[in-house]
This record gives sequence, structure tokens and C-alpha cells, in this order.
Amino acid sequence: SKRPAANAIIGPDFKFEDMGIGGLDAEFTTVFRRAFASRIFPPALIDKLGIIHVKGMLLYGPPGTGKTLIARQIGKMLNAREPKVINGPEVLNKYVGQSEENIRKLFADAEKEYKEKGDESGLHIIIFDELDAVCKQRGSGAGGGTGVGDSVVNQLLSKLDGVDQLNNILLIGMTNRRDMIDDALLRPGRLELQIEISLPDEPGRLQILNIHTAKMKKSNTLSDDVDLKGLAAQTKNFSGADISGLVRSATSFAFSHYIKPGTTASVSEDAINMKISMQDFLNAMSEVRPAFGSDDAELE
Ligand code: ATP
Repeated sequence: SKRPAANAIIGPDFKFEDMGIGGLDAEFTTVFRRAFASRIFPPALIDKLGIIHVKGMLLYGPPGTGKTLIARQIGKMLNAREPKVINGPEVLNKYVGQSEENIRKLFADAEKEYKEKGDESGLHIIIFDELDAVCKQRGSGAGGGTGVGDSVVNQLLSKLDGVDQLNNILLIGMTNRRDMIDDALLRPGRLELQIEISLPDEPGRLQILNIHTAKMKKSNTLSDDVDLKGLAAQTKNFSGADISGLVRSATSFAFSHYIKPGTTASVSEDAINMKISMQDFLNAMSEVRPAFGSDDAELE
């Protein structure tokens, strides 16, 4: 069969870290592999078993923890088409009056291919960011009485378990507000896999620091005195996005040492051998604060 199988990289030795995502525990990888294993088996077997593939998952947790990154990498791992991305608030604001039509369009390619090829169809991924935005209005009569949220959720439900069940889609919903997500969306056959992506712990932060400084290490621009372990210990409550911001900030401090005096910026000759030092990171630490959570505000 010509069916594009899931990539071999969801094998037992696969690590998300190798895909540039740090701080995900082994359990995440296991849950993930089990959930999507069926996609590498021959469709004929799946048919014989009478099961349907996992069609939806929800990634939830604080902002900047890599949910978007994960959703996109999942697409690559499952050998899916370039994912379609939609954003909750955008659906509500921009497309008032045609939200159903927009949701319909999102699924149109998958539907067309499924009609032609059935279970031999490739996988289509739809990433729905800030899914809570369309949920909180469901049944509440809010949203200017438009009921847009309602119809978006209903349209999603009908696409997920409609009369003509699509077995070639994966809807990945993302939210910072798990509590806002409509229960109807979370039932089996819908966004049935719900995975929390929390702030990274210390080893996780070290992984993320390693990922974001990998090129510097390779090109020998990271000074030997940079203590990534120490930084991992000092960045409690930092998300992956915060850590990436920290590295960027340190780099900008390092750049500033190689700008010559004068009103017009010019770069000194030795910039080509530039190093990013621990002091640059310490300077960065004094200006980068975690966007979310702190020692005295307990995270949910
Ligand atoms: P939001 O809820 O705000 O949309 P998110 O959880 O989707 O956030 P991303 O947009 O994936 O977060 O993360 C932003 C950037 O932060 C990423 O592109 C990446 O550079 C960095 N980052 C976040 N989490 C991680 C991680 N676990 N490992 C490596 N880099 C990360």
C-alpha cells in the first residue's frame, strides 16, 4: 500500500529531546507511542480489529511550555501533512458569521482524501490553539448573542464523530485553561488523550538550556565558564519560552561587548571570535523573569 506510515522515529528509543523539545518526561513519550502505535500497523489489520485511531488530543498547561512545538513535531513524527493551524479567538473575532464554514474548510482536504482513499489516506493534523476561547461561550449566551462558540464546538464534534467518520485526522487542541474545555469535546473518540505539559523541573530546564545553546557549543562561542547546571538550578518557574528568552538576552549582552564606541554602530574586528560568558547569562538573569508563576504563587 502507498499509505505514508508513521515515521520510524516513534520507536522505543526515540527521545523528544533529539527533536529540540526538552523537559518532557519519559511517561509522555510512552503515552504518546501507545496512542499512535496503531497508525504504523497495516490498515487491513486495524479494520479487522474494528478500531478507530486516536482522532484527537488536548495539550494543556501554562504558556510557553512548548505545546505548539510538540504539536508540530507530532505531525512530523506521524508523517502527516503540514498541519493546519487555527486559533480560538481568531475564529470568534475574525470570522463571526462564517465560523462554521471555516471549520468545515479545515477538514475539507482530509474529507476529500478519505473519500478517495479510505484508510489508506495520509494523516491530516489540525492544530487548534486557545481552544478554550470557543468553549467558554458554549451555552452561556455570551459572545454578543452570536452563539459563535457553540457552533464552532458543535461543528468540531460533528467532524470528529459525524456520519462519515474520518479516520485520517488528528485534532490537537491546546489550552492554558483545561477547566474551560467543554466536556463533550473530551469524550472517547474525540480529544480523548489529555496530556498536561507543565513547567519544566530542574533536569528539564537543563535539557532546554542545552537545546538552546547547542549551536553555540558546536561553534565554540559558549565560554567554558558558562555553568548551565547552575542556571538550571536558578531558573525555577521558567518555562521553555522563558529559557529561550534568557539565552537570547545573554547573547545580546555578549554582542554589546563587540560594538565599537560611536554614534554609528560598528562591530569590532574580534567579534568573529566572540564568546558568550557566564557574566552575560548573569546579566540576562537580572532582566528575564518567568512569565508565569513564582515562588509565592502556587501553580495549579
Ligand atoms: P502558548 O501557550 O503561549 O501558545 P506554547 O506552550 O505553545 O505556548 P511554544 O509556542 O511551543 O509554547 O513555545 C515557545 C518557544 O519557547 C518555542 O518555540 C521554543 O523556542 C521555546 N520552548 C518552549 N518550550 C520548550 C521546550 N520544552 N523545549 C525547548 N524549547 C521550548
